[in-house]
Amino acid sequence: MKEGIHPEYKETTIKCACGNEVKVGSTRSDITVEICSQCHPFYTGKQKLVDSAGRIERFRRKYAKFQNNDK
Ligand SMILES: [Zn+2]
Repeated sequence: MKEGIHPEYKETTIKCACGNEVKVGSTRSDITVEICSQCHPFYTGKQKLVDSAGRIERFRRKYAKFQNNDK
């Protein structure tokens, strides 16, 4: 490994909005995230709305309309 071209690699703590903290090796420090493996719906199986773009809400409205038509 050549010296001078790699940033310093150290242990840092990623803090999630859910309160979970994960220690990782990173060149960055004081990392905060809004979602992690502990609170992501993919891992928890729970429905937690992460919908900054409004795509999920639009999809739900569309789907609700579809269900009403089906009755
Ligand atoms: Zn989290």
